[in-house]
Amino acid sequence: MKTKIVTKKHFEFYGCDTVELAREYGTPLYVMSEDHIIERCNEIKEDFLQKYENTRAVYASKAFLTKEMCRIIKREGLGIDVVSGGELYVAIKSEFPMEKVIFHGNNKTFSELELAVENNVGRIVVDNLYELEMLNNIASEFDKKMEILFRITPGVDSHTHKFISTGQLDSKFGIPLDEEILYGAIYKAIQMPNIELKGFHFHVGSQLFENTSHLKALEILINLMKEAKERVGFETRELNVGGGFGIYYKNGDERAKLRDFMDPIMECLKSECREFNLSIPQVIIEPGRWIVGEAGITLYRIGSIKKIPGVRTYVGINGGLPDNPRPALYDAKYEAVVANKMDEENEDIVTIAGKCCESGDILIWDLEVPRLTPGDILAVKSTGAYNYSMASNYNKIPRPAVVMVKDGQERVIVKRETYEDLIAREI
Ligand SMILES: *Cc1c(COP(=O)(O)O)cnc(C)c1O
Repeated sequence: MKTKIVTKKHFEFYGCDTVELAREYGTPLYVMSEDHIIERCNEIKEDFLQKYENTRAVYASKAFLTKEMCRIIKREGLGIDVVSGGELYVAIKSEFPMEKVIFHGNNKTFSELELAVENNVGRIVVDNLYELEMLNNIASEFDKKMEILFRITPGVDSHTHKFISTGQLDSKFGIPLDEEILYGAIYKAIQMPNIELKGFHFHVGSQLFENTSHLKALEILINLMKEAKERVGFETRELNVGGGFGIYYKNGDERAKLRDFMDPIMECLKSECREFNLSIPQVIIEPGRWIVGEAGITLYRIGSIKKIPGVRTYVGINGGLPDNPRPALYDAKYEAVVANKMDEENEDIVTIAGKCCESGDILIWDLEVPRLTPGDILAVKSTGAYNYSMASNYNKIPRPAVVMVKDGQERVIVKRETYEDLIAREI
C-alpha cells in the first residue's frame, strides 16, 4: 500500500495510477473505489434517510459482495439484502448486524431459511406460499417469530432489458396480483403463530433512469394497502420499493439522482396515505448497481491485434466473459480507455474480444482508440456491479484479484485465483 505519482499519460482512477496498479497486481484486475461507494452512501443519507423520517436503505449485495464490502456498508450504517445462503454466509462471517439483513429469493431452500432463522435475519421477503409454510415451521422449531414482507408482482413493465425486468405480471418473482392467491396469503400469514407480516415489497427492474415504473407499482401497492386494511384489517407498516436506479455506462447515460427518483415516490405515498386515511409505512430502498457500479473498473492487458482488411480489427484482451459476462448475457455496453496512452489521439476503431472459446465473448464493439501495441493496458469503466459477483471459471480461467482504492492508496481485498485454486476441490 503506497501512494503513487500519476503521470498525465496514465489513466487516473480516484487518485491511483491504473498502469501502476496493473504492473503491481497483474491483470485482469478489478479496481474498486471506496471513495465512490462512500459518496453514494452519503447521497442516500442526505437525500433520503435524513430527509424523510421512518426510512431505511439496504445495499443489494448481489451487485458486489465480499467481507470487506460488508464492513464498508456496516460502517456507513446501511443494511444489506441477500438472495442466497451463500450471500448470507458472507454477511455472517463479516459480523454484519443481522437485524439489518433482508433475505430475498424466489426459491429459498429449507437449509437457507434455517440459516436465516438461526441467525435472526431481520426481514425475510417471502415470495410464495410454499416458502411461507416452510418458514413458519422452521421458526416454530426455533421458537422464534420471524418478521416478513410479501414480495408482490405489481404487473408493471419497466423500460429495460427483458432479463433484468422483474415486475411484470408474467414473472418468476413474487406473489401475483390475483385476489384469491394474494388475500389467501395475507390471511394465512396474519394467523400464523411464528410469522409477523410487516408489509410488502416490490422491485420493478434494474438500470432505470426514470421512476415511472416505480410510481405505477406504488399506486398498485397503495391500493393493496387500502384493501388489505378494509378486508382483513391488516395495517401495512413497511413498504420496500426495491432498487434499480440507473448508472453511467456509456455516452448518453447519466447516473440517476436519488432525489429525482425518491422525492416523487415519497410525495405520492404521503398524499395518498392521507387521502385513504392510512398511516404512512416505513419506506425501504435497495440499490445495488447504483452504489457500486461506477465504483469499479477492470484493467486488462492487450495481446493479439488482428486486422481483417476491410472488415474490422479484433483486439484480444487477457479476460472477458469469465470476469464480465454482461455483454454476452444482456448485450450490455461499456466504455474503455487505453490507460497508458491517455495523451494520445484516437486513430482507430477496434473491437475488444475476450479470450474465451465463444464467438459471443466480445466485450466492446467499435471502440475508438489510439494506435495500439501489444502490452497496452485497457481500462473498462463502470464494472463495479455484477462483474466480480457474476464471474466464472469458464475455460478454467482464474478469477482476477480485487483491489480497493481509498484516498489514493490501494489494498487487495480479494486475492487472485491460482491454477491450484482451480482444482482445489477436485477429487
Ligand atoms: C437485484 C435486486 C436489487 C438491486 O437492483 P439494482 O438494479 O442493482 O439496484 C434490489 N432488490 C431486489 C429484490 C433485487 O433482486
